[in-house]
Amino acid sequence: MRNALRGDCHVHTDWSDGGDTLPAMIAAAAQAGHDYVVITDHSPRLKVANGLTAARLRQQLEVIQAVNDSLAGTGFRVLRGIEVDILVDGSLDQSPELLAELDVVVGSVHSELRMDKGAMTRRMVKALENPHLDILGHCTGRKLPVATDASHATRRRPPSSFDADAVFEAVAANSKALEINCRPDRLDPPSTMLRKATRVDGLLFAIDSDAHAVAQLDWLSYGCERAEAAGLEPERVVNTWSAEELLDWAASHGG
Ligand SMILES: [Zn+2]
Ligand SMILES: [Zn+2]
Repeated sequence: MRNALRGDCHVHTDWSDGGDTLPAMIAAAAQAGHDYVVITDHSPRLKVANGLTAARLRQQLEVIQAVNDSLAGTGFRVLRGIEVDILVDGSLDQSPELLAELDVVVGSVHSELRMDKGAMTRRMVKALENPHLDILGHCTGRKLPVATDASHATRRRPPSSFDADAVFEAVAANSKALEINCRPDRLDPPSTMLRKATRVDGLLFAIDSDAHAVAQLDWLSYGCERAEAAGLEPERVVNTWSAEELLDWAASHGG
């Protein structure tokens, strides 16, 4: 599976809460043998992560454009993305016009993770019905007590509660992708839920590092191992596709 991956759809930089610069993350992704990387910094409401206002995201898009101009002919490209917060009512934390301009939109729940099951299910399904969302990020929001750098281990956070059948059906029905988040402090969805997801007809996946630093780009292998253990075929993983196929798929949802 790792050899089949051609890109990474969820990567942060120091524009939001990443530890490395945009040029450093791009260079490392190219060095890792990828054909593309999607830069997905946080959205405005996630203030603890220095989420990008619309104005700052527009600035970042200009920087990415300049980087891509300089990469012309290398075969590697940077795609424009966001990890947008799925708000409590299921709407997305960035303007529809700006989301429509982006190549790939990862949508994640970062707040009110303890909502009741019915409300959380409605929140996630509504987000999946939004044409701008392409990939549902770390669906349970769980955190594992694993140190991802020298400084600290995160505290355990239980998974949120939602109707997985309904959410996975909504991912498939809207031709979206379910993220297999590779971070060792997330490994989300958990294995039992991941196996359940692989049994849903037509359900697509994205194996994402969610890297916040250069060294974390290697975490993709953790998700690949879990995808293989769950019996997932590489064709169902959108980042085994070429950049053109990925862009066509994302555009098919309405931008
Ligand atoms: Zn996230
Ligand atoms: Zn992230």
